[in-house]
Parts: sequence; C-alpha cells; structure tokens
Amino acid sequence: MRQRTIRKAVKTSGIGLHSGKKVNLEFKPAPENTGIVFRRADKNFFPIKADVSYVSKLAHATNLTKEGISIATTEHLLATLTGLGIDNVYVDIDAEETPIMDGSASAFVYLLKEAGIKKQRAEKKYLRIKKPKHFLKGDRRISIYPYDGFKITYTIEFDHPLIRLQTRTIELKDSEDFENEVSPARTFGFLKDVEMLRKNGLALGGSLENAIVIDSDKILNGHLRFADEFVRHKILDVIGDLALLGYPILGHVVAYKAGHEIHTSLAKEIKNDPESYEIVNAGELDFIEKEKEVSQVVEEPSAI
Ligand SMILES: [Zn+2]
Repeated sequence: MRQRTIRKAVKTSGIGLHSGKKVNLEFKPAPENTGIVFRRADKNFFPIKADVSYVSKLAHATNLTKEGISIATTEHLLATLTGLGIDNVYVDIDAEETPIMDGSASAFVYLLKEAGIKKQRAEKKYLRIKKPKHFLKGDRRISIYPYDGFKITYTIEFDHPLIRLQTRTIELKDSEDFENEVSPARTFGFLKDVEMLRKNGLALGGSLENAIVIDSDKILNGHLRFADEFVRHKILDVIGDLALLGYPILGHVVAYKAGHEIHTSLAKEIKNDPESYEIVNAGELDFIEKEKEVSQVVEEPSAI
C-alpha cells in the first residue's frame, strides 16, 4: 500500500458555521510524507500541519493555532481526507474558518472524487495502537484499543425524545464505507441553544441549510438522512479529530457522550505516550492489501 495524494487541484466556496464568513477552499496535491497541511491563502499561505500539538480553542469545533494564526472547524475536512485514504494534501483557505457546506462531509467527498486519487511512490505509514488508552471527563469518555483495522464504536445519550440513546459501530475498510455510512451525516444542534451560541459568537453562519436543528419535539428541517444520523455525525467528528495524530490509525475507538475536547485529549494522551503506539510501514502488516511493485507503476486510474 502506497501513499496517496490527489491528481489535480479542486476548489469550492462556502461560509464558516461559527464565523458566518465567506471562504474559498482549494485542495492541492502535495509531495510524499507531507501529511495534511492547512494553509491560509490570505496570509501568504501560512502553513499549519494537521497535528494535535496545534489544537487551540475547542468551542463546538476543533481549531488549530500556530504563531497566532488559526484554522477553525477542521474536523469534517480531516475526516474526509482520512476516510478517502488521502495521506498528502494542501488545504488552502482564505479566511479563518473552513466552509461548513451542508453540515456533512458529502461535498468534500464529491470534490475529492472529482480531483481523483494519485498513488505516490513512498510506502503508506500507519499509527498502530499497541496498548489501550483512555480519557475520561465526568461521564464522558473515550478509549482506544489495539485492532488490525480502523473501527469506531460510538454511543450518544441525550434527554430528548428524538435522540435518546444511539449507538453504532462502523469499520472503515475502504473509502466507500466512509462515503456511504458516515459522510452524509450532518452536524446538529438544539434550537434552545442557538441564542446562547450566538451570544458567544458561535453558530453565526448556522441555518437549516447546514445543520439539523432540533426543537423540543421535532426536527425543523424535515427528514433525516439516516435514522441514527446524530451518532453517525459523531463518528465523522471523531475520525476528523483523531486525524490530528498525523497518520491513518490502526485501532478500535470506543466513545461515550464524547466531543471535540474529549477526542483531541485522547489524541494528546496517545502522542504523549510513545509506548502506546508505533509508526509502521504498510509492507510490515500482512492484513494490509499488497500493491504492485512501485517500479511498475507511475500513475493509477483516478477512481477513489
Ligand atoms: Zn461535526
């Protein structure tokens, strides 16, 4: 298995969920071993690598800050790049916050499929969990266990008749698992919280176009995309937040009532404990599909 970037640059635009500001987004191919690097096109392409060491504010989104420059609401983009198996890419935006699109990752999947996937020569690397790690805060918790694949079991519990307890396990074996089972799930919020969020300068771009809005007994935007769309969106969020470890993960994530702060705290716990993981080349893992000899292949068809 080799590293992947995209075949060509692709762009879109939208508004930031929390800032409400218009933003242009462009994905560009990046060399081997670059990882995922955000760049502020409005600040001389100032780069911020998608790495847990740059996590800053965690107010209903995961933001990165380096030398006073920030990239806000990174999680849906990072989840999509992980879900589609893209290792190296530049993500250029010309404002502080990424575009929320329809509140899901579908638009990013569509755009990256349009760009196409390009296999590179270097071998793909994984972050393999070697021993269980946990993070707890009150009744919220998350754990990760060794596993020969990437699997997420997520449980949410809300005192609300339309949600209550939802639990789901999703294993990401290939990009279709992410595309079909996870990417369409939209972010959600409660109408009763909107006023408070806006007072705090959050959700200024939020609307029925980009979030499921839940009233006391009904959903204001009609039909859900999945009966358990809410827990699927939390799975989307945790995939994006754990992408800040910098490599695709081999492990089983189990989360209960977690959120961005809990997800990124686990990522920090892992990173701060070098005994808990190892970085391995795909060739050392017998359960990872083998590909043709590098020398025989320069480019592959663009299908994801
Ligand atoms: Zn989200």
